[in-house]
Amino acid sequence: MTSEYSVPDDAYAALGDETRLEILFELADHYDEAWATGWLSFSALYDLVDIDDTSRFSYHLGKLQEEFVVKEREQYRPTIAALEVVTAIRSGIYADATTRETTIDASCPHCEASLLARHHEHLLTLSCPDHGVSMGYPVPPIAASHQSLETLVDLVLRRHAAHVDSLRRGVCPYCWGPATFSFPHESVPEFTLQYDTVYARAACEACWMSYPIPIPDLLVSHPAVRHLYAAHDLEPPATQLGSLSLVQLSDVELLEDGKARVTISLKETTLVVDLEESGAVDICQRISQS
Ligand SMILES: [Zn+2]
Ligand SMILES: [Zn+2]
Repeated sequence: MTSEYSVPDDAYAALGDETRLEILFELADHYDEAWATGWLSFSALYDLVDIDDTSRFSYHLGKLQEEFVVKEREQYRPTIAALEVVTAIRSGIYADATTRETTIDASCPHCEASLLARHHEHLLTLSCPDHGVSMGYPVPPIAASHQSLETLVDLVLRRHAAHVDSLRRGVCPYCWGPATFSFPHESVPEFTLQYDTVYARAACEACWMSYPIPIPDLLVSHPAVRHLYAAHDLEPPATQLGSLSLVQLSDVELLEDGKARVTISLKETTLVVDLEESGAVDICQRISQS
């Protein structure tokens, strides 16, 4: 069976050569100048690349067209796919990296130990050493060379909230393919930090993206939830971390019509949200006790 979403046969082969990668790097480095002076001509590009044979150069440049290089008005410009290849290499995706760890100001719901933020190779994880991983998020090595782990954790949580927002609209945050939620989802792997809640599963039909997610976390970017937290002087990442996180403050009840009712209680305010499996919010009620 062939997948509806496949990789063009030539895409990988086109990159398996040093000269071709060098062409992409030179074009990427010309990006800023291109706004003013346009892209590079054949001869200008040839002069920049370390090769002494015009026909060899022409052959390699030809292999990069149309997937990675486009010729327009006798100039060569890189495609977005080419720029992404350069970004991946420059960000250290393929480099050796060190490991950094720090404890953060949020504790494990099972043992009260501080969660450990760990950046290793291309992944940032938040975990309890005894009770499992609360979150894993791709962060390339270059990030760790110029920012603190605390800053990276904050950014990862904000990005994750934006990802959930994208998923609730049916779009995979990684490849932009069709993505869906389904719940309840029973099989949460042992290495994950288990919360006493009902889980959903987020999955993309086109790429590898698939993971279990506590149902309350589907609401991390919902305006009513944002407003509730802001009203209590809490920054957006608080919805995902620590004792005031959504998963800790919420009760989840599965309704007969397939929806999930999430009741969030933060201090004197209670928010009741009915969630459809698509991630759409059906009812949203705010009850304040004062
Ligand atoms: Zn623990
Ligand atoms: Zn995807």
